[in-house]
Amino acid sequence: MDSNVKRLSHKTMGFSRVLIANRGEIALRILRSLRTMGTEVAIIHGREDRASLPVRLSDYAVPIYRKDPLQSYLDIEAIVEAAKSVNADAVHPGYGFLAENSAFARRLKDEGIVFIGPSPEVLELLGDKIQARSTMASAGLPVAGGSDHPVENPDEANLIAAGIGYPVIIKAAAGGGGIGMQVVVSPDDLDSAFRLCSSRAKSAFGDGRVFVEKYIQNAQHIEFQVLGDGTNAVHFGERFCSIQRRHQKILEEGPWLDEDTRNSMGQKVVEGARTVGYSGLATFEFLRDSDGEFYFLEVNPRVQVEHTVTEQLTGFDLVSLGIRVASGESIGISQDQIQLTGHAIQARVNAEKPTDFSPAPGRLWECLLPSGPGIRVDSHACSGYSMPRCFDSLLAKIISHGRDREEAISRLDAALRETVLDGVDTLIPLHRKILQEPNFLKKNVTISYLEDHNFG
Ligand code: ADP
Repeated sequence: MDSNVKRLSHKTMGFSRVLIANRGEIALRILRSLRTMGTEVAIIHGREDRASLPVRLSDYAVPIYRKDPLQSYLDIEAIVEAAKSVNADAVHPGYGFLAENSAFARRLKDEGIVFIGPSPEVLELLGDKIQARSTMASAGLPVAGGSDHPVENPDEANLIAAGIGYPVIIKAAAGGGGIGMQVVVSPDDLDSAFRLCSSRAKSAFGDGRVFVEKYIQNAQHIEFQVLGDGTNAVHFGERFCSIQRRHQKILEEGPWLDEDTRNSMGQKVVEGARTVGYSGLATFEFLRDSDGEFYFLEVNPRVQVEHTVTEQLTGFDLVSLGIRVASGESIGISQDQIQLTGHAIQARVNAEKPTDFSPAPGRLWECLLPSGPGIRVDSHACSGYSMPRCFDSLLAKIISHGRDREEAISRLDAALRETVLDGVDTLIPLHRKILQEPNFLKKNVTISYLEDHNFG
């Protein structure tokens, strides 16, 4: 009886059962938060994931088998039906798949099921990078020079580029995952870059609209973690994510900024979140140039792969906080209750060849994940797990936390050294080289770090 009382006191205000519309490590991460909140866990799954860890651990599992495995996680009507069939109060979309899909959020709303994330209107606004740029500029956030409307043709792109000066970058309005973006250093290349970006955007997002932005040279990628409840917002400091391949992050860490810069940028992102009435977890992404100027890139309106770094630094369970505000609770944390302690680094252990980043999935005949002081592992991997080829290559996230950066680095290196993932190639050898590389040790890192260093 006592344990029941305790269980209820931890329960979220509204949700008895939540459906996870995702897979892999993030599905497991969400399941863990739901369990600590006393909420029942349902999950959808494709054929390839039927024996996966999050499916095995959930209370209810709904198969959605499709010829194209991605469709299991993208079929809006099938997922709405699954949510109804298990009587879920809410759906957690995780990241990727339908996480930023306003039509999905709207369909759930029509059925009286809560979408754990911002409103469909906010998703629509932020899903359009052009609108997001102008909204955030009017909220007082710094943005790079560029177009404030979709660019119709290469001639118009040429005019804008001439105005802001080369190099420029052509980006998809509906973009994500670095898809389609083209850096243009001279007017001669503008025409072909425009067409390439537009056609890639059309095939990847069904939306060929593009815009032109000043290319920020020698930039660093810095992002702020935000939580809003529709009225108020707080920030949880920054993460540094400049180590990227194909514009996608592989190693993230924090903190990175001095306190004054963190406070002033923090106030700006909080204002940005309030302006749009943001509810849920969000990441405000920026580039920072060598003069220390910030340029807003986009808002990711969902839990982010690297939220773990911030959880280690602040001690907050961000996934639970996101679920709580979706259930109607207010934030319940004041800005001065959020303190960053020590230093945290996350290595994304992708099943990829560390030399050319080509996918290298397979069956894990042995899987030994690290532990020890200051080490956290978020992974759905286990011995015997057969990693499907059709999905993302992220297999494990290994996160270290230390009193300072030096300690976080040595802990992460020791953890990577003891990790055994036999049966697949992983980025571990590359991460270990980065952790010893002099420029990395000196924090001399920009977004071209991997191209600038020959890790062979
Ligand atoms: P996506 O949504 O496709 O991931 P983002 O706008 O978030 O695109 O940018 C992803 C990455 O692309 C950035 O971290 C950076 O490496 C590069 N990038 C984007 N815009 C610029 C820019 N204006 N100047 C320099 N690099 C950029």
